[in-house]
This record gives sequence, C-alpha cells and structure tokens, in this order.
Amino acid sequence: MSWALIPLTEEQRAVQLAAREFAAAEIAPYSATWDREARFDRSVVGKLAALGFLGMLVPEAWDGLGLDSCTYLVALEEIAAVDASVAVLMSVHNSLPTQMILRYGSEEQKERFLRPMARGAALGAFALSEPEAGSDASTLRTQAVRDGDAWVLNGTKAWVTNGDSADVILAMARTDTPSDRKGPRGIGAFIVTPDLPGLTIGKKEDKMGLRASPTVQLHFDNLRLPAANLLGEPGRGFIYAMQSLDHGRLGIAAQAIGIARAALECATAYAAERRQFGHPIKEFQAIQFKLADMATRVTASRALLYAAAAAKDRGEPITQFSSMSKLMASETAMWTTTQAIQILGGYGYVTDYPAERLFRDAKVTEIYEGTSEIQRIVIARELYAGS
Ligand SMILES: Cc1cc2nc3c(=O)[nH]c(=O)nc-3n(C[C@H](O)[C@H](O)[C@H](O)COP(=O)(O)OP(=O)(O)OC[C@H]3O[C@@H](n4cnc5c(N)ncnc54)[C@H](O)[C@@H]3O)c2cc1C
Repeated sequence: MSWALIPLTEEQRAVQLAAREFAAAEIAPYSATWDREARFDRSVVGKLAALGFLGMLVPEAWDGLGLDSCTYLVALEEIAAVDASVAVLMSVHNSLPTQMILRYGSEEQKERFLRPMARGAALGAFALSEPEAGSDASTLRTQAVRDGDAWVLNGTKAWVTNGDSADVILAMARTDTPSDRKGPRGIGAFIVTPDLPGLTIGKKEDKMGLRASPTVQLHFDNLRLPAANLLGEPGRGFIYAMQSLDHGRLGIAAQAIGIARAALECATAYAAERRQFGHPIKEFQAIQFKLADMATRVTASRALLYAAAAAKDRGEPITQFSSMSKLMASETAMWTTTQAIQILGGYGYVTDYPAERLFRDAKVTEIYEGTSEIQRIVIARELYAGS
C-alpha cells in the first residue's frame, strides 16, 4: 500500500518500521488466542515499554521519547493493524492519563507518576465514565470530600480500560457539594493508585470485541487519597479530561485506521487467491469497486488524521478536527470491516481469517471517547463557535 499521500519523515519511517516489526514478531502470533480467551497478557506492557512506546509524547526530560503526535499516530496504526486491544492500551496510556499529568501535574506528581509511566514501568488508566454518566459525563456522581490533608472518594467508575491492571488511574470525581452543584466546573481529577485501601475492582465486562483489553468497573468505598494526589485545581478536572480527549480521539482514529487497513489488506489478498467461476474474484468488478472504496476511505481518513495531528503539533486548537478524524476513521473502520467480510463470503464469518475479529473490534471505535453522535454534536457546535 502506498504511503506517499502524506510523506513521512525519516524518523517517522523508522518508528513505523520498528512498530511494524514489533507487531509482527511479538503480537501477531498471539492475537487470535488472546481474543478467543479474552486474555490480557501483561508481558506486552514490558515489551511496549522497551521500545519507548509508552512514553512517546513525553519529553525526554521525563524519560519519554519526546516525539510529535504524527509519529506517535503512525506507530499506533501499525500496532492496531495487528491487534486493536494492544492499540487501545497504548492509546489510553499515552493520550489520557500521561498527557493529563504532563500538562497539569505538579513537579512532584511528574516525578512520582509521570516518569515511571513514560518509562512504561507504570501503566495508566482513565476513569471518567460511570454507570449513569456516559455521553453526559459531567453528570458523574462519584463524590470527593476534603478531610484534612486527604480527599475521601466514594462512587463507582465504569468501563475503565486497563482498570484492573493499571498502576496509575486518573479518576474524575465531584469536588462540589450536594447543596452547591457546579456542573462541569465542580469536578476534580485525582491520581488513584491500586494500593490504596477502599479501591476494589468490580465487574469485568464480557465484550463483543477488544476482548484482550480488560474493561472493568472500579468501586471507591471511602477511598482516602493524600491531598497531593489532586491534579491541578479542584474544579477543573472535567476541563482537563475534555482537553485530553481532544488528543485521545486522534489515538482512537489511528486505531480505527489500523483496523480498517488490516481489513483492506485481508480482503485484497483473499480476492487474489479465491477463485469462482474460473477466475480469481478480484477480476469481478463488484469486488474491485468494494476494494477501491475501502482503499479510498482508509486513505482519506489517514490524510485527515495527519492534518489534525499536524495542527496539534503546531499548537492550534483541534477540538473540531479531532472529532472529525475520530468520526471519519471509526465509520471507515466499521464500513470497511463489513465490506471485508462480504468479500471473504462465508470465510469472513468464521475465525479462520482475521476479518470477523476486525469487524468486532471496529465497532467500539464508534462508541468510546465519545460516540459518533457526540462527535457530530462537537463538530456542529464548533461551526457556530464565536457567532
Ligand atoms: C470497550 C470500552 C472501553 C471504554 N473505556 C473507557 C475508559 O477507559 N474510560 C472511560 O472513562 N470510559 C470508557 N468507556 C466508556 C465510553 O466512553 C462510553 O461508553 C461512551 O462515552 C458512551 O457512553 P454510554 O455507553 O453511557 O452511552 P450513552 O451516553 O448512554 O449513549 C447511548 C446512546 O445515546 C446516544 N446519545 C447520548 N446523548 C446524545 C445526544 N445528546 N444526542 C444524540 N445522541 C445521544 C449515544 O450516542 C448512544 O448512541 C469505554 C467504553 C467501552 C465500550
């Protein structure tokens, strides 16, 4: 497949090659088994860490690689093309908790948490959603109450990716009081570590796709945190989370593009081998048109993503571009994986080929870090910004 539309720098090509070779050697042989057994193999964290892939966006001063967003997203696509579960681990860790501490953390928090996270010695998670607060996350109910030099947290967080394996969990909780609710401005971001009494791991979700990525509920029962574990200011945690999601959505777009590209590659190879009516099916125009549309959508999604990432690296606001990228890439992933199954016919519907796993993995990209409906709301809202 051609990469020429947006030329990569020498450094980006080197990172891409490293990610591709790593994924082929260390992930591809196990992906189908991990998916079938819904198994998260913790050793993958150490292997990603050894490459520096868990600190790609963190400056070298904090033990990261100090790369730009485009380079990070190039690597993420390579991992996602082989295993979307490993890609979401990498995306959440790099884009959300790590970025939040980098941008809003104190020097002491960076020393204690960011440095090991950038080295990959500590895995991060992001706990915003709750059972009753999904798209409308600012209505979350987990309550934080200041008690001397501590905060005491009570509530339940839902859908936490890596929540049972993380060493550092960025959890959003209300810092306003029941008698003086401040909406999105009444939420703090707290750094929770699994050693703290009062934290229990709840229900592990039995998912359609991303089966090798653990997704759990977390219960906070009088969880007592040192005051030093509050990130930034008490009422600004939701804003920090939303700003980080602008970046996180680029990661999900890269994940979706990786899934879509893998579906395209699988279908292209299959269509060249499979013969019906005395011909390889790639000679039938109906199949060619599908492949052409798949390739066009993957390429367009990637071009939009790189343009958004370049805007981010120039320091421009990217809320709208980031939502556009995530929307387009996730719908491309769902559509492309559906076409791949059609091209493989019955063989697309069984586990002998990766098409069915790609299809199952694609769906969640239209749901998490904001559903497609929420992305459209953000994009439309920005059209009227300032008017
Ligand atoms: C595998 C997985 C991993 C996840 N990982 C994390 C994580 O690590 N951390 C975290 O905090 N969360 C995580 N999430 C949660 C995810 O972000 C939410 O599922 C998502 O934001 C949607 O919330 P919801 O599921 O409550 O759906 P709801 O908000 O209940 O939405 C239901 C439907 O209503 C639609 N809808 C809602 N409001 C509107 C509106 N105003 N206009 C039009 N349509 C609307 C939605 O688009 C959707 O179609 C994860 C979810 C999954 C499935």
